[in-house]
Amino acid sequence: MCTDHLLLIHHESCIKCYSCIRICPVKAIRVDVNTEFPSIIPARCIGCGSCYRACSPGAISYRSSIGETKALLASGQKIAAICDPTISGEFHDITDYRKFVEMIKQLGFTYVSEVSFGVDLVARKYKEIFENFKGRYHISANCPTVVAFIEKYYPELINNLVPVVSPMVATAKVLRKKYGQDLKIIFIGPCIATKEEALKFEGDAKIDAVLTFVELRELFTQFNIRENQLEFSEFDPPLGYKGSLYPIANGILQSVNISEDLLTGNVITTEGRNDMIDAVKEFDSRIDRIKRHFNMFYDEGCLMGPGTSPAGEKFLRMTLVTDYANKRLTTFDKNTWEDQVAACEDLDLSRQFNADDQRLPVPEEQKIVEVLKMIHREDDKNNEVGCESCGYSNCREFAIAIAQGLATTEMCHVFSGKNRQEYIRTLRATNEKLAKTQAALKESEEKAKNEQEAQKEANNIVSAMLQKLVSGVVIVDDKLKVIQSNKAFIRILGEEATLVDEVIPGLVGADLKTLLPVNIYKMFSYVLSTDEYIEHKDVLYEENKLSISIFPIRSHKYVGGILRDMYVPEVRKEQIINRLTEVIDENFETVQKIAYLLGEGAAKTEQMLNSVIESYRNPTGK
Ligand code: SF4
Ligand code: SF4
Repeated sequence: MCTDHLLLIHHESCIKCYSCIRICPVKAIRVDVNTEFPSIIPARCIGCGSCYRACSPGAISYRSSIGETKALLASGQKIAAICDPTISGEFHDITDYRKFVEMIKQLGFTYVSEVSFGVDLVARKYKEIFENFKGRYHISANCPTVVAFIEKYYPELINNLVPVVSPMVATAKVLRKKYGQDLKIIFIGPCIATKEEALKFEGDAKIDAVLTFVELRELFTQFNIRENQLEFSEFDPPLGYKGSLYPIANGILQSVNISEDLLTGNVITTEGRNDMIDAVKEFDSRIDRIKRHFNMFYDEGCLMGPGTSPAGEKFLRMTLVTDYANKRLTTFDKNTWEDQVAACEDLDLSRQFNADDQRLPVPEEQKIVEVLKMIHREDDKNNEVGCESCGYSNCREFAIAIAQGLATTEMCHVFSGKNRQEYIRTLRATNEKLAKTQAALKESEEKAKNEQEAQKEANNIVSAMLQKLVSGVVIVDDKLKVIQSNKAFIRILGEEATLVDEVIPGLVGADLKTLLPVNIYKMFSYVLSTDEYIEHKDVLYEENKLSISIFPIRSHKYVGGILRDMYVPEVRKEQIINRLTEVIDENFETVQKIAYLLGEGAAKTEQMLNSVIESYRNPTGK
């Protein structure tokens, strides 16, 4: 049988309303700290199905048995459907019970039998135990949710559970005895927890699959089986007697005349989530005073189990169950039933229970107080009551659950509301800061852009001025690479340099050593290393005579050279000086701005320019 988790929460449909947490009687649902989605802790779950019913968006599903039922039906084996007596309350839309027997047979079952015969056998065992008090009071063990609750949360009471199998298991044993041990058995009932209970039995007690009524209806739809197309069919023997009253909480007692007389009886029947939990609590603490056996059901009998169709009406279902029981009794063959009961006397209907303690240790008081502080509830004298919107009945319980790792602070609306406001305040402050930073960034971008443009403009001015000079001018760095040169310089170098200039304007980056003979470029190296001026040095270059002046621009970094071809009519020095001074004056404001904005870049440009002028104005360099 499939052993996937009994219940699953599908996060894609979950709206985080935490109704499931609020309703879970054993706090088996944990909220993830990061995603805030709830998820079921299988070991803690008692399979009551309350969360499944409480989830309005339908985000919780239970383990389906439809697939394995269809596979069994298709296997060609002998298969019996055993129907919980609640079926008469569920199928109020089917006019005669013999119709739904035939509908089930049409699915492919070999036999369709009633679990009410199993109830009859189990009820007789209960009568024996309840009416022969041997010093121990008992709790009924027919409701699998009650059994799971005691095994997991009151394990010290497992010896008080009636040590008898449930009617489902008793019926399986009866049918295997009657129809063969190879018989496959599928239980059809109103409960989800039976899917988990069935996993515990093997051999003649084995249940091969458990279908809820909702799943049975789904199969009818899938197989297109409709009541109005079918004839009647009877349940396969053995037939139940008053066991058909079992869906009503005290039906099992009435079926064997166990006294419920308030004055003389010794059994208390209790049903429904809260009463059942209170009953177990009181049984645990007060049984010496109460002195009664307990007949308990988590749901309201089985009539309203989570595997029945939603929106069922309890009293209508109760009426349908009693009507069915009465109808069957009018033609009931008690002698045959007694023979069949006698034939089952040798069946072992005993059962044991296993403690599976899931109680979590209560955190230390200090830890609880810390959590209460965290959720701003430490000063509240009333922290033993609460709005319950977190799913816990008061703030203290909620704090304990947080300390146990079951809940998160964000589940508290008050806390997350305060946090949200704080978050909005922080967000606002951060946004304001961000806006200021963005404005400052924009301003400095603007400034950098202006500086770049100013530098570009300064370079253009220097370049334009140099081009106006009739003498050749070249500026090189400490590696003798050309930084700037003018057309006159290129003209002096000759035709080859003119061609290079077309590709690399101004010969920028060219190595002076490849452009000039060694005696000339060594003069540049000399000025770079010594910072001394060379003035009007006459040098023969190819067929020309050059007058060369070399001067430092920045110590050991940049030098400038002025090369005058003595055979070319020279433009008067004064004119050049005047023109340069004029340009400088015209651009004085710009240069000032450049110097201010560009710092070193502009200063360097201005320095170069001034060095050129200075070399004309003061050829001695003194
Ligand atoms: S009941 Fe639980 S599973 Fe369903 S939507 Fe609400 S939080 Fe999600
Ligand atoms: S089935 Fe019951 S015990 Fe399990 S998680 Fe849901 S409400 Fe809790």
